[in-house]
Amino acid sequence: RQKQQKFVYDFTEGNKDLKDLLGGKGANLAEMTNLGLPVPPGFTITTEACRVYLESGAEPAALRDEVSAHLEALEKRMGKRLGQADDPLLVSVRSGAKFSMPGMMDTVLNIGLSDASVAGLAAQADNERFAWDSYRRLVQMFGKTVMDVDGDLFEEAMEAAKRAKGADSDLGLDAGDLKQLVADFQQIVLKETGREFPQEPREQMDLAVRAVFDSWNTERAKLYRRQERIPGDLGTAVTVCSMVFGNLGPDSGTGVAFTRDPASGAQGTYGDYLQNAQGEDVVAGIRNTVPLAELEGIDKTSYDQLMSIMQTLETHYRDLCDIEFTIERGHLWMLQTRVGKRTAAAAFRIATQLVDQGLIDEAEALQRVTGAQLSQLMFPRFEDTVADSGQVKRIGWGIAASPGAAVGKAVFDSYTAVKWSRSGEQVILIRRETNPDDLNGMIAAEGILTSRGGKTSHAAVVARGMGKTCVCGAEELEVDTKRRRLTAPGGVVIEEGDLISIDGSTGKIYLGEVPVVPSPVVEYFEGRMHAGADEADGLVQAVHRVMAYADRVRRLQVRANADNAEDAARARRFGAQGIGLCRTEHMFLGERREMVERLVLADTDTEREEALGALLPLQKADFIELFEAMDGLPVTVRLLDPPLHEFLPDITELSVRVALAESRKDANENDLRLLQAVHKLHEQNPMLGLRGVRLGLVIPGLFAMQVRAIAEAVAHRKAAKCDPRAEIMIPLVGTVQELEIVREEADRVIADVEAATGTRLKLAIGTMIELPRAALTAGQIAEAAEFFSFGTNDLTQTVWGFSRDDVEASFFTAYLEKGIFGVSPFETIDKDGVGSLVRSAVEAGRATRPDLKLGICGEHGGDPESVHFFHEVGLDYVSCSPFRIPVARLEAGRAAA
Ligand code: PEP
Ligand code: MG
Repeated sequence: RQKQQKFVYDFTEGNKDLKDLLGGKGANLAEMTNLGLPVPPGFTITTEACRVYLESGAEPAALRDEVSAHLEALEKRMGKRLGQADDPLLVSVRSGAKFSMPGMMDTVLNIGLSDASVAGLAAQADNERFAWDSYRRLVQMFGKTVMDVDGDLFEEAMEAAKRAKGADSDLGLDAGDLKQLVADFQQIVLKETGREFPQEPREQMDLAVRAVFDSWNTERAKLYRRQERIPGDLGTAVTVCSMVFGNLGPDSGTGVAFTRDPASGAQGTYGDYLQNAQGEDVVAGIRNTVPLAELEGIDKTSYDQLMSIMQTLETHYRDLCDIEFTIERGHLWMLQTRVGKRTAAAAFRIATQLVDQGLIDEAEALQRVTGAQLSQLMFPRFEDTVADSGQVKRIGWGIAASPGAAVGKAVFDSYTAVKWSRSGEQVILIRRETNPDDLNGMIAAEGILTSRGGKTSHAAVVARGMGKTCVCGAEELEVDTKRRRLTAPGGVVIEEGDLISIDGSTGKIYLGEVPVVPSPVVEYFEGRMHAGADEADGLVQAVHRVMAYADRVRRLQVRANADNAEDAARARRFGAQGIGLCRTEHMFLGERREMVERLVLADTDTEREEALGALLPLQKADFIELFEAMDGLPVTVRLLDPPLHEFLPDITELSVRVALAESRKDANENDLRLLQAVHKLHEQNPMLGLRGVRLGLVIPGLFAMQVRAIAEAVAHRKAAKCDPRAEIMIPLVGTVQELEIVREEADRVIADVEAATGTRLKLAIGTMIELPRAALTAGQIAEAAEFFSFGTNDLTQTVWGFSRDDVEASFFTAYLEKGIFGVSPFETIDKDGVGSLVRSAVEAGRATRPDLKLGICGEHGGDPESVHFFHEVGLDYVSCSPFRIPVARLEAGRAAA
């Protein structure tokens, strides 16, 4: 089978839709080649070859010959052989997976240089320094990534060479210095690995390809994939591309650019350019770049050509693209493009801009944003009046690389960031520049601050991808990671542990803690800001429009989980179409706890009835308020669910209190009874105990009281000519018999209230499906239920056998690390297990009762991925906490578009 497979594609062979096979980089290089853009010739080794290698430990047998054939064709085309001594063809070997993983995997440039060919390169380029600089880069990159030598050893040797020369950048080293450095680097390789740096060009290339394959499985790549939810078995493609050189002198250089501002979406010239440098220098922030606009003054022809290519790309991809390019002695070459990462705000703006430009339609616009981005926009930001008033000290100003407001304690290395955040501290990770090894620290930190690098530096790109606040390139700050301190102009010193605030939207950096204010997007949802109010910024306008697209196409309704009028009112402002879950237990807390205690302690019917009688008017008043806030919309009221002991004093505390009182001989009667009751109700695993419908069946009158309160509240609202739409929901049902008994009683109470008030109440009665048995017998349960609401919290708990209260703190980290699941099943619905029960219960329920209403009210109701699943299985609505409603609306729209 392997024989027929094709493992190598010339750049002229593929296209942008072959990302699975050629990786993003390979597919887009092919696309650009076929668009007629200036791409240096080359070929791509497929992800399939990588997968074979990763699974079997060896390259597929056919790969070598295929690579040879493509290499020969390339050599013929370029008129020189790889590593040819008098005029060497050099290639880059770069990783490129389906999903971009910036800086996570390996790349080696200048393959083909050796002690022999370095002279040929120097002669051809008529530039001795350039040849040795290229060779030094090869030995360094190859040594580090292919031969596993500690990269710091090369850095140190380089620093020593600069010091000896009194140079403050690598540009201060001349050909002789670099030649010496190559010798030093080769010595380092030999000493560290016991092997010589390989001189044979093809061997260099093959080893580099293998190293790229291997880099798929480095720890940092695995961590990044988990974070970004990228599947672990895709493998990476490898592009082999003929080298062009940005380090040939001042008429050469390399840069990174965006077709529009990735932070705001505004059209214009965005990017960084570095003269006389090679690829990785820009992203690594080794030297400070100049803004791309300055290229116009340096090399107008290349600049104009670049602008026109960027226009072509944007129209062709119908999206923001980012690109990497190199100018070799005035000749522009495109080295990479892809649909670019962007901030959340830019995603919304760009989606609507592209609709306005006629490049995409509304349905496509919905695919260009995500619920996760929307929730990022709902984060608060710094209070301008405090930030700008001088009440806090501004100590610097960097590049606004990834928006948000972050406050935390200064830390200067990833290890400390992780350690401190684990112990509950909020930290800001401060580095001169970040590299892929800082990933852990970046994840742990509230925000990231660097003193070097532009908008395309590693820190900026990765932080934007993670939705993390980042300020980069704050050049006036002196970061001393060794002594763990930062010095700002005017001699302000910030030590490890000092509080600082960074604003990723403005780039401002403050000493101390700046108070934060709500986001304009939240202000808009709250109705406190008009959609057109921010013309300059345009964000609210864009969100408003995208939400309208979503609302127009979505099939799923969105309700709120809310138990009081205030939350209900907010939910309604956020677009909720009703309440999907009112947890009545939340109405039994606070001062009312004692009333519940009395209910639990009741020995006689009279005592119990008195206790219930005291609760009834309070419950009724709660419901009236709730129905008022949701007038005209459905409100699903769930009868009492949690185990009763949750309303009682803690068993240990009470035991101690009673014991002390007894020893003082003044034990009080009520405490003694309470202790007895607490003992009786104490359960080893309360989640599987006396709760939900079981309470209703065991405590006479409890559910009847709640049903009466609901019915009377509805009658009250109807009498006031309003439109209450209550639904009564029974929790934790496992069998239809439970539901039937509760129903009978409820129907009786409702009939009673109808007779007494002379009003038809039309109260639907339904149940939660949150036990496996309920899901498995959904067909029977639907006989007695007018609606189902899936309680996916309990369903996840009972299907997996995980205690929802403890498990995330105990062994979940181990499970996540081992990849047993990529994300907690309490956060995103487990489609194969819990989800398949939901799916079959939907079918069985509807088979019994075609007009059965179906919803979900577990935490998954506000989780983007889960919303898509619930759309797909055909639910009528999702219900989630008020703040997640916009996200659920958006995702429901995206699922339907
Ligand atoms: C559920 O179990 O999913 C649910 C919504 O109920 P609760 O979280 O209150 O148990
Ligand atoms: Mg539940």
